[in-house]
Amino acid sequence: MAKVDIASLNLSELTQAITALGLPKYRAQQIYQWIHKKGAVNFDEMTNLSKELRAQLYDNFVIFSCGIEKKLVSCYDNTVKYLFRLYDGEFVESVVMAYKYGYSICVSSQVGCNMGCAFCASTIGGCVRSLSASEILGQVYAAQRDLGIRISHVVMMGMGEPLDNYEQTLRFLHMISDENGLNISARNLSVSTCGIVPRIYDLANEKLGVTLSVSLHAAEDAQRSRLMPVNKRWQIRALLQAVRYYIETTGRRVSFEYTLVRGQNDSAQDAKRLAALLGGMLCHVNLIPVNEVSETGMKTVDQTHVRNFQAVLQRNGVNATIRRTLGADINASCGQLRKTIR
Ligand code: SAH
Repeated sequence: MAKVDIASLNLSELTQAITALGLPKYRAQQIYQWIHKKGAVNFDEMTNLSKELRAQLYDNFVIFSCGIEKKLVSCYDNTVKYLFRLYDGEFVESVVMAYKYGYSICVSSQVGCNMGCAFCASTIGGCVRSLSASEILGQVYAAQRDLGIRISHVVMMGMGEPLDNYEQTLRFLHMISDENGLNISARNLSVSTCGIVPRIYDLANEKLGVTLSVSLHAAEDAQRSRLMPVNKRWQIRALLQAVRYYIETTGRRVSFEYTLVRGQNDSAQDAKRLAALLGGMLCHVNLIPVNEVSETGMKTVDQTHVRNFQAVLQRNGVNATIRRTLGADINASCGQLRKTIR
């Protein structure tokens, strides 16, 4: 019989699995805390469990942890990028960033991505597979353990489309905010999506209170479809309707990411159109000068250009900030994460 991926079980499922083995209930909480609070990667680390009990756990379960295949530290800003090895030899990348308010990690939700955005490195070669909740959690635990830090914020903005791996994403969000685990407040968790409309409604209905980030990148359908094939399936109107529902249902402000690509979506006219589209909404726009990825041929814009674009939005009543580029020397910036070593 295949062993159970124990780190993907929530506390009530683990309790069920443990009592089914004839063990007392409190053992489940101990084991859960070992994995999710203390970051244990094997049963031998669980020193308050007897040898016999540990052997029984080895017989029934497996802990999928992330192995550090490669680690790069930026000399500009101490951003750290990991290439993690998964149990089956696949790889994902994660990035740890230090901010004034604490440490934030950008995690991957899939090995690769199927969404096909024209500027993004993660989608080259498609999606190999989705990650289990334990593999998404494992990125956070492995980084904490390696750096000896406590991570306070998690953004699902790494490789993959989290809402294309909805069930495991949801499981991850519940478990990372569980008080028996890292207990990270939902306010400090962000999910970024290219716009899988039905899943935005589902996420709103979960009432988790996590921050929703929507990758918009264009305010007009033909333009957005050129950059983001997902727009052919769900167009801007339907997307914004779902976003409004998210705002109404959760009361949370939504973030829009807008990656500026030279000659594609960066004119003053584009900025005005964007302002008209978002006017009056409880939202915030994050402008990102595109990080160049050699295969895509997309060219970036300079700082003055980004500031002008921002000024148009602000003059028209839309709140906009410019995303700081971190880890530029280690290919750790938005859209540069890949499933292989370079
Ligand atoms: N699939 C999700 C999660 C990825 S988040 C999503 O689409 O939102 C990564 C963010 O970086 C997204 O907003 C994405 O559109 C953006 N991005 C992708 N490639 C980029 C690049 N080369 N330069 C700047 N931003 C990029």
